[in-house]
Amino acid sequence: QSNEESKVVAKQKENKLDPKVQYNNERGTEKDHLYIVVIGHVDAGKSTLMGRLLCEMGEVSQRTLHKYEQESKKIGKQSFMYAWVLDETGEERVRGITMDVGRAQFETKTKRVTILDAPGHADFIPNMITGAAQADVALLVVDATRGEFESGFDLGGQTREHALLVRSLGVGQLAVAINKLDTSNWSEERFNEITKKLKSFLKQAGFKEADVTFVPCSGLTGENLVKPPSESELLKWYSGPCLLDVVDKFNIPERPISKPLRMSVNNIFKGIGSGFCVAGRIETGVLNKGDKVLVCPTKEPAEVRSIFINDLPSNVAFAGDQTSVSLSGVDMQNVSVGFILSDPVLTVPVVSRFESRIVVFNVKAPITKGYPVLIHHQSLVESANIIKLKALLNKSTGEVLKKKPRCLGNNSVAVVDIEVCRPICVEKYKDVKELGRVMLRVAGTTIAAGLITDIYP
Ligand code: GDP
Repeated sequence: QSNEESKVVAKQKENKLDPKVQYNNERGTEKDHLYIVVIGHVDAGKSTLMGRLLCEMGEVSQRTLHKYEQESKKIGKQSFMYAWVLDETGEERVRGITMDVGRAQFETKTKRVTILDAPGHADFIPNMITGAAQADVALLVVDATRGEFESGFDLGGQTREHALLVRSLGVGQLAVAINKLDTSNWSEERFNEITKKLKSFLKQAGFKEADVTFVPCSGLTGENLVKPPSESELLKWYSGPCLLDVVDKFNIPERPISKPLRMSVNNIFKGIGSGFCVAGRIETGVLNKGDKVLVCPTKEPAEVRSIFINDLPSNVAFAGDQTSVSLSGVDMQNVSVGFILSDPVLTVPVVSRFESRIVVFNVKAPITKGYPVLIHHQSLVESANIIKLKALLNKSTGEVLKKKPRCLGNNSVAVVDIEVCRPICVEKYKDVKELGRVMLRVAGTTIAAGLITDIYP
């Protein structure tokens, strides 16, 4: 490790500015950038809420809004008008659900915020994993309507699964919008009933109480989104912050800009002219225009021709940024979603086998040796098998309860070896958190989340 670090330093001294100095030069005067993923059960009102918030912030032109109003009237779903601000494709409009991770931006007093709108529908959890893996913080939207909260929260609903997923993917701070409270006449009792249930669940899921804030609101009426409440019923008992103020108070996680470059690829598209672009997040390090990178796991060298952040050209991108990068020297066919662009010298480990400490949430039959799963790692989805059950651990202390257990049931914590069908780029969690987490899924359900504890290159 120390050898690696000295190599980084030597290389940077050779031809580059210190990353921290470069960051201060470029970004010192800008607002901090925060990425927020919006999660919750389908129909909780996520799109409406975010659409309305963007409108109130003046991020949507009157013309666009008018267009959406006309179109939504035409198909008889007028209430979807705000949701369309985020949902872009025609198919989503017809079905009235969000499928891809939509993107939109707004500013608070101290932050520039990008929304990653995650789909609520169970079929689209893989997209949601991609969104959540790139998020700094999450906004959980729940429908306060009597009966609706209950069905989204109880088994089968996505409220729990989403909250567990984002926590397992490293998101620690959460705002919870107790939404559609207009349907309960802004009842304090209803608000308290829901927050009580959520609090105990979120604590179990691993959120610290101090990192979770509950906000009563209505996406449809716009109540308590960007301004203090005006509803007299709500004013009777609520004096807390509006949603925008909660977002403004989130802490920006530390950006690992001094580590070697890793950029995860979650989209590939044809650029203007001859080249092509990859989009994704700079997980660690700094990427400069003109840099040579290694496209992994295939280890093909490429050169960065241009960098775009929010569709604007930039000379440099830092850890935490979502970017599009145009590449030369490599064929578009040879790059896939889930690949990593790596520092060419301090390369990302490429492995077929790794050790992971997993928490099992939800298996129908116990996990035994050879158990087949789909691994989700950033945007990558790959078939794999759990080839060795090494130890069963005590959930709270991490002590070994049993070596070589024969099987693993729900709620167990265990150390296992996983073999992937094709080599993938991962890092040990203790070295690079961003690339050190995996989700295990089977037949459309998330059965476990894991931290990568060892790799076998
Ligand atoms: P999503 O699936 O979570 O994105 O939910 P949508 O934003 O598409 O909303 C689902 C339905 O709930 C739509 O019919 C909305 O008009 C309705 N809805 C959304 N927000 C509110 C709200 O604050 N109050 C009420 N009464 N209805 C809402």
